[in-house]
Amino acid sequence: MIAEKMKGMVANSSAIRAMFEEGNRLAGIYGAENVYDFSLGNPNVAAPKAVKQAILELLEEEDPVVLHGYTNSNSGYADVREAVAESLNERFGTAFEGKNIVMTVGAAGGLNVILKTLLNPGDEVIVFAPYFGEYRSYTNNYDGVLVEISPNTADFQPKLDEFEMKITAKTKAVIVNTPNNPTGVVYSEETIKKLAAVMEKKQKEYGTEIYLISDEPYRELVYDGAEVPYLTKYYDNTIVGYSYSKSLSLPGERIGYLVIPDEVADSETVLSAANVANRILGFVNAPTLQQKIVKKCLKEKTDISYYNRNREALYQGLADCGFECIKPEGAFYLFVKSPTADEKEFCAAGKKYNILMVPGSSFGCPGYVRLAYCVAYETIINSLPKFAELAKEYF
Ligand code: PLP
Repeated sequence: MIAEKMKGMVANSSAIRAMFEEGNRLAGIYGAENVYDFSLGNPNVAAPKAVKQAILELLEEEDPVVLHGYTNSNSGYADVREAVAESLNERFGTAFEGKNIVMTVGAAGGLNVILKTLLNPGDEVIVFAPYFGEYRSYTNNYDGVLVEISPNTADFQPKLDEFEMKITAKTKAVIVNTPNNPTGVVYSEETIKKLAAVMEKKQKEYGTEIYLISDEPYRELVYDGAEVPYLTKYYDNTIVGYSYSKSLSLPGERIGYLVIPDEVADSETVLSAANVANRILGFVNAPTLQQKIVKKCLKEKTDISYYNRNREALYQGLADCGFECIKPEGAFYLFVKSPTADEKEFCAAGKKYNILMVPGSSFGCPGYVRLAYCVAYETIINSLPKFAELAKEYF
């Protein structure tokens, strides 16, 4: 028999798998070009050419015993960590060193490493709805308790009054994700300053350390010149989790990093514990070839204009049909208000037109649906008459 704790997680995964299978089933019947699958956040922009070039060069240049071996430190190759730190310092005016960087198996690996490092059973982790649903599982992995702040549907910036009320002596971490999955909203500098002030106040009040974990796989995916504040500058106990899954379109390669700055309380202990967590969670070290690739590609960018064209077309197309949605400033998701209170019913109605959407309740925000627009432009254009038909059922 499987563990009790796994039963709920398996049930949840089945819902995602069911959606994936539904997409395949519909594609089998109607042809893939007639299915409008907006369910997955899997980039459809190819990785920059420099990635392929880097792989070829590495295979030629590097000693294969070193290239494919375990890294000396479980936190990654020293030269890669130094290069990552330098690149951050150049872009954000920070003062990190290689020792502050832990190379990880994507953002998912990084979040698990840091939560394993920080959480005692019963410790609370605060998230702002809507949030990436996996935070619940990751917190549960280490017997933490997820505490949700209800969504602010006016603009999807975090509700700071409720946040202040829900911080307790057991609050160990707060996870923020900006640009946000599923809303595409970027938290403003003003919001970050206020959030930091609340956390400082509560640390003093309880005499505890409350860590701010900035989960930022979408940092570079921004539109219209939106600025994403670098959070370590606003609050000392900030730990950043980054990933190349979206910024270099390498989600299957599983590469990212954590930044644990010197300003973090007990930073040396946190860094060495994260190093051990990376090993004992079974990651051992982040994939070595991928570490070397990202070092060569630190200046590379994904084709943001591709996502921007999709964003404009889908946003405008849905607005023309009468759907309500905040125009996202980042990531590649639209979070659309369901025209009926039960958004699962709306998702089911969408399936009649071969439109696949994810219910907002998967992100702690019922009454909304998420559309991932990291799809072919044609998929968006061809889906619009179907959305128009779907809209006629409601407006
Ligand atoms: N955090 C957020 C908000 C995400 O949307 C995702 C993936 O979609 C992840 C973390 C995990 O990303 P990775 O592929 O880097 O593990």
